[in-house]
Amino acid sequence: MLNPTICPKCLQPNEPARTLCWKCLRSLAEAPTESDYTRLFGLSRSWNSTELKAAYHQLARRYHPDVNPGNREADAFFKYVNKGYEALAKQGGPTPAPPPPPKQDEGIAELNDKLRAVVHSYLEERKNTPVKPTRFQTLTKSLRRLWPFGP
Ligand SMILES: [Zn+2]
Repeated sequence: MLNPTICPKCLQPNEPARTLCWKCLRSLAEAPTESDYTRLFGLSRSWNSTELKAAYHQLARRYHPDVNPGNREADAFFKYVNKGYEALAKQGGPTPAPPPPPKQDEGIAELNDKLRAVVHSYLEERKNTPVKPTRFQTLTKSLRRLWPFGP
Protein backbone atom coordinates (compact mmCIF):
# COMPACT_ATOMS: atom_id res chain seq x y z
CA MET A 1 0.00 0.00 0.00
CA LEU A 2 1.29 3.46 -0.86
CA ASN A 3 2.03 5.91 1.86
CA PRO A 4 -1.02 8.15 1.62
CA THR A 5 0.36 11.35 3.07
CA ILE A 6 3.98 11.64 1.88
CA CYS A 7 5.02 12.12 -1.72
CA PRO A 8 7.69 9.46 -2.44
CA LYS A 9 9.58 11.74 -4.83
CA CYS A 10 9.98 14.97 -2.94
CA LEU A 11 9.14 13.50 0.50
CA GLN A 12 6.82 16.42 1.14
CA PRO A 13 3.33 16.12 2.60
CA ASN A 14 0.94 14.91 -0.05
CA GLU A 15 -2.82 14.72 -0.49
CA PRO A 16 -4.16 11.44 0.82
CA ALA A 17 -4.64 8.67 -1.78
CA ARG A 18 -2.30 10.34 -4.27
CA THR A 19 0.89 8.58 -5.37
CA LEU A 20 2.84 11.71 -6.20
CA CYS A 21 2.08 15.30 -5.37
CA TRP A 22 0.95 17.46 -8.29
CA LYS A 23 4.29 19.22 -8.47
CA CYS A 24 6.19 15.95 -8.84
CA LEU A 25 3.71 14.53 -11.32
CA ARG A 26 4.34 17.54 -13.51
CA SER A 27 8.11 17.28 -13.00
CA LEU A 28 8.15 13.66 -14.20
CA ALA A 29 7.96 15.08 -17.71
CA GLU A 30 11.06 17.24 -17.18
CA ALA A 31 14.52 15.80 -17.52
CA PRO A 32 15.58 14.68 -14.04
CA THR A 33 19.10 15.23 -12.76
CA GLU A 34 21.40 12.84 -10.95
CA SER A 35 20.50 14.38 -7.60
CA ASP A 36 16.80 13.83 -8.37
CA TYR A 37 17.52 10.14 -8.77
CA THR A 38 19.80 9.77 -5.77
CA ARG A 39 17.12 11.44 -3.65
CA LEU A 40 14.49 9.19 -5.20
CA PHE A 41 16.41 6.09 -4.13
CA GLY A 42 17.57 7.65 -0.87
CA LEU A 43 21.20 6.96 -1.73
CA SER A 44 24.14 8.09 0.35
CA ARG A 45 26.75 10.49 -1.05
CA SER A 46 29.12 7.59 -1.71
CA TRP A 47 26.58 5.16 -3.13
CA ASN A 48 27.58 2.10 -5.10
CA SER A 49 25.75 -0.31 -7.37
CA THR A 50 24.83 -2.63 -4.47
CA GLU A 51 23.16 0.18 -2.57
CA LEU A 52 21.41 1.34 -5.75
CA LYS A 53 20.16 -2.15 -6.55
CA ALA A 54 18.71 -2.65 -3.07
CA ALA A 55 16.95 0.73 -3.13
CA TYR A 56 15.67 0.11 -6.65
CA HIS A 57 14.20 -3.29 -5.79
CA GLN A 58 12.39 -1.80 -2.82
CA LEU A 59 10.79 0.98 -4.89
CA ALA A 60 10.12 -1.22 -7.92
CA ARG A 61 8.36 -3.79 -5.78
CA ARG A 62 6.24 -1.11 -4.17
CA TYR A 63 5.16 0.62 -7.38
CA HIS A 64 5.00 -2.41 -9.67
CA PRO A 65 1.86 -2.43 -11.85
CA ASP A 66 0.99 -5.90 -10.50
CA VAL A 67 0.83 -4.47 -6.98
CA ASN A 68 -1.10 -1.36 -8.07
CA PRO A 69 -3.51 -2.54 -10.76
CA GLY A 70 -5.18 0.27 -12.64
CA ASN A 71 -3.20 2.95 -10.81
CA ARG A 72 -1.86 5.19 -13.57
CA GLU A 73 0.17 7.31 -11.18
CA ALA A 74 1.91 4.29 -9.76
CA ASP A 75 2.54 3.13 -13.30
CA ALA A 76 4.08 6.46 -14.26
CA PHE A 77 6.18 6.45 -11.14
CA PHE A 78 7.30 2.88 -11.76
CA LYS A 79 8.53 3.95 -15.19
CA TYR A 80 10.31 6.90 -13.60
CA VAL A 81 11.98 4.60 -11.06
CA ASN A 82 13.16 2.33 -13.87
CA LYS A 83 14.51 5.28 -15.82
CA GLY A 84 16.37 6.46 -12.73
CA TYR A 85 17.81 3.04 -12.09
CA GLU A 86 19.03 2.73 -15.67
CA ALA A 87 20.66 6.15 -15.57
CA LEU A 88 22.40 5.59 -12.23
CA ALA A 89 23.40 1.98 -12.99
CA LYS A 90 25.05 3.16 -16.20
CA GLN A 91 26.96 5.74 -14.17
CA GLY A 92 27.97 3.11 -11.58
CA GLY A 93 28.75 5.56 -8.77
CA PRO A 94 28.43 9.14 -7.64
CA THR A 95 29.94 11.89 -9.77
CA PRO A 96 33.14 12.99 -8.03
CA ALA A 97 32.65 16.39 -6.46
CA PRO A 98 34.81 19.20 -7.90
CA PRO A 99 37.74 20.15 -5.66
CA PRO A 100 36.78 22.88 -3.22
CA PRO A 101 38.01 26.36 -4.13
CA PRO A 102 41.05 27.52 -2.13
CA LYS A 103 39.98 29.19 1.06
CA GLN A 104 40.70 32.89 1.23
CA ASP A 105 41.24 32.60 4.97
CA GLU A 106 44.33 30.43 4.52
CA GLY A 107 46.62 33.37 3.64
CA ILE A 108 45.24 35.36 6.55
CA ALA A 109 45.73 32.46 8.97
CA GLU A 110 49.33 32.10 7.85
CA LEU A 111 49.92 35.82 8.30
CA ASN A 112 48.29 35.64 11.72
CA ASP A 113 50.68 32.86 12.77
CA LYS A 114 53.69 34.87 11.60
CA LEU A 115 52.47 37.96 13.43
CA ARG A 116 51.84 35.95 16.59
CA ALA A 117 55.39 34.55 16.43
CA VAL A 118 56.86 38.02 16.03
CA VAL A 119 54.85 39.40 18.95
CA HIS A 120 55.76 36.39 21.06
CA SER A 121 59.50 36.72 20.41
CA TYR A 122 59.29 40.46 21.12
CA LEU A 123 57.56 39.85 24.44
CA GLU A 124 60.06 37.13 25.39
CA GLU A 125 62.94 39.43 24.57
CA ARG A 126 61.40 42.25 26.59
CA LYS A 127 60.81 39.96 29.54
CA ASN A 128 64.56 39.23 29.74
CA THR A 129 65.86 42.80 29.33
CA PRO A 130 65.42 45.09 32.33
CA VAL A 131 63.20 48.05 31.55
CA LYS A 132 65.17 51.26 31.48
CA PRO A 133 63.44 53.96 33.53
CA THR A 134 62.31 57.02 31.65
CA ARG A 135 63.96 60.39 32.26
CA PHE A 136 60.89 61.54 34.12
CA GLN A 137 61.06 58.51 36.45
CA THR A 138 64.76 59.11 37.15
CA LEU A 139 64.06 62.78 37.85
CA THR A 140 61.20 61.96 40.25
CA LYS A 141 63.37 59.45 42.05
CA SER A 142 66.17 61.94 42.63
CA LEU A 143 63.66 64.59 43.76
CA ARG A 144 62.23 62.07 46.26
CA ARG A 145 65.68 61.62 47.66
CA LEU A 146 65.89 65.40 48.23
CA TRP A 147 62.30 65.79 49.46
CA PRO A 148 61.03 62.49 50.94
CA PHE A 149 57.90 64.08 52.43
CA GLY A 150 56.11 64.72 49.17
CA PRO A 151 53.26 62.66 47.74
ZN1 LIG B 1 6.26 15.45 -4.59
